[in-house]
Amino acid sequence: MIKKIDISKKYNLPSEVHFCKKCVISNQRPRIVIDSEGICSACRYFEYKSKIDWDKREEELLELLDKHRSCSERYDCVVPSSGGKDSAFVAHELKTKYGMNPLTVTWSPLKYTDIGWKNLNNFNDSGFNVILGMPQGDIKRKLCREALIEMGDPFQGFIYGQVLFPLTIAIKFGIELIFRGENAEAEYGGSPESWNKKYLSIDEFKKIYFSNYELDFWLKKGFERKDLSFFYPPNPDELKDKVCNSYFYGYYRNWSNHSNFYYASKHTGFEPNVRRTEGTYTKYSSIDDKLDTFHHWFALLKFGHGRCTSNAAREVREGYITREEAIALVHKYDIEFPNLYFKEFLEFTNLNEDEFWNIAAAWRNENLWKTQGNDWVKKYPVK
Ligand SMILES: [Zn+2]
Repeated sequence: MIKKIDISKKYNLPSEVHFCKKCVISNQRPRIVIDSEGICSACRYFEYKSKIDWDKREEELLELLDKHRSCSERYDCVVPSSGGKDSAFVAHELKTKYGMNPLTVTWSPLKYTDIGWKNLNNFNDSGFNVILGMPQGDIKRKLCREALIEMGDPFQGFIYGQVLFPLTIAIKFGIELIFRGENAEAEYGGSPESWNKKYLSIDEFKKIYFSNYELDFWLKKGFERKDLSFFYPPNPDELKDKVCNSYFYGYYRNWSNHSNFYYASKHTGFEPNVRRTEGTYTKYSSIDDKLDTFHHWFALLKFGHGRCTSNAAREVREGYITREEAIALVHKYDIEFPNLYFKEFLEFTNLNEDEFWNIAAAWRNENLWKTQGNDWVKKYPVK
């Protein structure tokens, strides 16, 4: 039995729950701010984006590319790429529209879905060299289990690799330019200081994505340095005098999940799933990992919003659905438990069902959930 965690205190969440008047997100998302007019910072960022001069931003992009363009067989940029629609758009546009020579780097999911593996191969077939990083399975599983218990997030091990592995490869190949997709911090509710960031330094990435759990933390939890060596970036001596920043392609080009989907379908053979992802209504976002539904489900326990809320909020901002439609979708799908791969998740983490539900109970935010018969329901459903 693990000790009950005070989620609101741990993540410094407001005690009163308020929802954005424009989308369906609440102030329980870490770092989001709802202003005096009742509008969240993610919606404000979308308003801001609609006023950006994108031609000017493209000129800035060309300037940056010209500084790094190899004009030879040498790679001139790294694109961290899962084979998904967003990274496929970035890599393909850099290569075909702007004449760059990208090396694409994939950090493997915890457990590939068939469609995810197919999409990575389709992307590879469409004309890209891919370096696939796959950490040893026993360590990956152990880290998944320990991070679930320690942080209420089975996905932290994946996040280390996703942030650090492309950097390692860039350094090894002498590449100084990395292109990631959208600036997630700005797109999903970070403060206005994040809105105009062209890139993040590695220290800024760590601050946002490692949730105060540096890799070294796990050495105290029984992991050895050699267990995690594949996760660690090059040592600081190797990085000395080398500038290698991760730029946001979404700073330079107007970013849309919908357009990226159509682009990747047309150019890199991207295919959506045949079924919707559990916990939401979409079929084309983050479909390569069987187990990432548990990352979203644990976020639901902690912050009261699941994958459907994130997807629907985004589509309201982009104007594809109304707030009323989004609310209906959230009520229908947000708290759906990811049954499809539950057995595989238990086997992967070496947990039995009782252990799993004990961990879930410890991470369920008491301020946001109440029992109703045998079920847990949200205390504050969006309305
Ligand atoms: Zn909003």
